[in-house]
Amino acid sequence: MTKADQFNTPAGPRQLYDCTADLLRASMSDLGQPPYRAGQILEWVYHRQARSFDEMTNLSKDLRRQLAEQFCVYESEVVHVSRAADGVTKFLLRWADGETTECVSIPSGERRTACLSTQVGCPVGCVFCASGMGGVRRNLSAGQIVEQAMVAAYQTDDDTRLSNVVFMGIGEPLANYDATVQAIRTINAAWGMNIGARKITISTVGLPEQILRLADENLQVTLALSLHAPNDELRARLIPWARRVSIAQLIEAARDYFAKTGREVTLEYVLLGDLNDRPEHARQLADVARRMRCNVNLILYNPVEGVSYARPQSQVAHAFLHLLRELGGNAHLRQSRGLEVDGACGQLRRQQL
Ligand code: SF4
Repeated sequence: MTKADQFNTPAGPRQLYDCTADLLRASMSDLGQPPYRAGQILEWVYHRQARSFDEMTNLSKDLRRQLAEQFCVYESEVVHVSRAADGVTKFLLRWADGETTECVSIPSGERRTACLSTQVGCPVGCVFCASGMGGVRRNLSAGQIVEQAMVAAYQTDDDTRLSNVVFMGIGEPLANYDATVQAIRTINAAWGMNIGARKITISTVGLPEQILRLADENLQVTLALSLHAPNDELRARLIPWARRVSIAQLIEAARDYFAKTGREVTLEYVLLGDLNDRPEHARQLADVARRMRCNVNLILYNPVEGVSYARPQSQVAHAFLHLLRELGGNAHLRQSRGLEVDGACGQLRRQQL
């Protein structure tokens, strides 16, 4: 196994969630089974939420034994669940190699959203974020990303159907490009979780090359750019990775993404008290949003223990929002949810570590 493989591939039996329908059909052929067996297995896993091969009673005992030797359904163990009063439920999953990641189920009226991680830790290192503190340890596989969506979909008390998926958990999705795109295809597929591509959002700090690749994937997913600062100097201070990419390059990539997919890009901007929440920042942000033709989502910062950044005062946040709108920006202020369940990304994992 090469070093790159070790970074990417966890040990143990292959996860079913890691298999595409084509790959599972090929595996059935290797086992001397007809191709339609793959469809039966996928039906059990995604539509009847089977957790083990023993439950797949229309398969012979012998085939179930063979499958259990080669595959696992769920690889992870849910080691911690926190549920907030507003229904936000946060899961800490431990994988076969002992690493942990978080996923979240967020109910909102008739909708429910799963927030997924793509890496163990995060290489981006935003100075205000718990997840970036320890750096990145490895990528998650496509199967591990899908498995989080299945846990968030079916292991809550909430019986509202999972309607949306956001890649806004721990990690930079576009730095784990192949696994993220494969996971999106499974989450979107009729044989998989069957969630519309337009209901799937990838949040990235902005890797222009990968944004252009994504635009060519023929996926109608929404792209959210984590800007967090309206000029290169402040952005480099807040997001160490951003030193590699200028806001001008991001504007170009976002415009190309829109031109190729017709999907509007959203700008995410975490408001940090007395740091990026001044009127001059709102003016600069309005200018970036206008040049990118983007909507802006303002997010009130979730305080992280041991990090000295503050949530801005409510009137400052609202004044920022109004100024943006006055300057022509289409902006919204998003309330952070699940604060009482360690809502900031990476806090639960960090506490467990
Ligand atoms: S905010 Fe997101 S991109 Fe930044 S360090 Fe945290 S997980 Fe990584």
